[in-house]
Amino acid sequence: MSQKISDVVCPFCGCLCDDIVLRLEDGKIIENRNGCAISKAKFLNHLQDRLLTPTIRSAEGVHECDLDAALEEATTILSEACRPLIYGLSSTENDAHREAYHIAELLGGVVDNTSSVCHGPSLLGVQESGEPHGALTEVRNRADLVIYWGCNPVHAHPRHISRFVTAAGEFVREPRKEREIWVIDVRETATSRLANHFINVEIGSDLEVLSVLRSLVKQRRVDVSQVGGVRVSRLHEMAERMKAARYGVLFYGLGLTQSRGRHRNVDAAIRLLQDLNEFGKWNIIPMRGHFNVAGANKTCTWTTGFPFSVDFSRGYPRYQPGEYSAVDLLQRGEADVLMNIAADPCAHLPVDAVRSLKSIPIINLDPKRNLTSTIATVNIPTAQSGIESDGVAVRMDGLPLYLKKVTEPPVGVLPDRDILRMIRERLEAGP
Ligand code: SF4
Repeated sequence: MSQKISDVVCPFCGCLCDDIVLRLEDGKIIENRNGCAISKAKFLNHLQDRLLTPTIRSAEGVHECDLDAALEEATTILSEACRPLIYGLSSTENDAHREAYHIAELLGGVVDNTSSVCHGPSLLGVQESGEPHGALTEVRNRADLVIYWGCNPVHAHPRHISRFVTAAGEFVREPRKEREIWVIDVRETATSRLANHFINVEIGSDLEVLSVLRSLVKQRRVDVSQVGGVRVSRLHEMAERMKAARYGVLFYGLGLTQSRGRHRNVDAAIRLLQDLNEFGKWNIIPMRGHFNVAGANKTCTWTTGFPFSVDFSRGYPRYQPGEYSAVDLLQRGEADVLMNIAADPCAHLPVDAVRSLKSIPIINLDPKRNLTSTIATVNIPTAQSGIESDGVAVRMDGLPLYLKKVTEPPVGVLPDRDILRMIRERLEAGP
């Protein structure tokens, strides 16, 4: 039977493109219209490299088991832990988050999401200085100046530019004539090559460049001729262009959040935009990577009061990035169990954190085989959010979008939220 499903949200990157059209034949996805190359690969290959059966690792090796046995083993490991860490959450939907926070609270553990190793500094910068935030559709409708700082959307968010920057909007009918793109980065990229202006800054000099830009916007005297490898006259040109913008937006990526200065860079960028808001309308939007990492920050804030790195060991939520962040807990050898949900920490965390992971039990919930699944004590396969299960995710600009279930998961495979609910119920029931 042939089936066409329209207005599907792509569950890959923080753009959450909501115009995907899928064609299915007998329940199998055979075509993805409107999606970028990454989206096509995600939908068309969703059945490849799957974890299909729960497994438990013991002294005798890894053996397959039924879901009940895997849940029992996971519950036993978690209830015996002194300092359990619950991590991931950025590639699953919001209802799964709720269950994860509940489990962290029940156990007196720590819950952290992947933003602690990507846009965590953005959240700290926002807590310091506020957030002049706007919607992506407003960018398309109104922006006459777009700045990409420390990011390369052509590769990481392939439809970001075509959907929101080079597309015509309500008040910008001819974007190629009426809208300018500036790119600030440490090297030439695919994005800088299609920009109107490219400013090549030295590695680790973002804070100095932002500070000088701010001085120039405020018409203060700058006593140097060059900063961060950029001539001050060039920065003066940029400052004047920014002041002349009717509606400007600064998109920024890990080039800003993970270079020297980190949250101070974001703080400086926000303060620059606050100054520019005296002249025109300016917003700042982080280029979020995983499709629901923004959702993980929102649900964590709604539920615990804090966006990531939350510790429940005293029975109430405490927040201390750098102390309760997953990397720090692991590097100190403090976490004695990891429950990983929809992430691959063994592939992405620093080597000493991964070394620590190899010495503790890991309960891994993921649809696919990955590096973490190869060393996990318990693997529980899950459905892919936005393809095999529905739910809500949050776009990089904070807009919540409904993810559709477009096909059935493999037999016996359940969504993250159901697996987590079952673990939570077993923990509540006690031994
Ligand atoms: S840009 Fe991102 S959300 Fe949009 S189709 Fe590509 S991978 Fe999916």
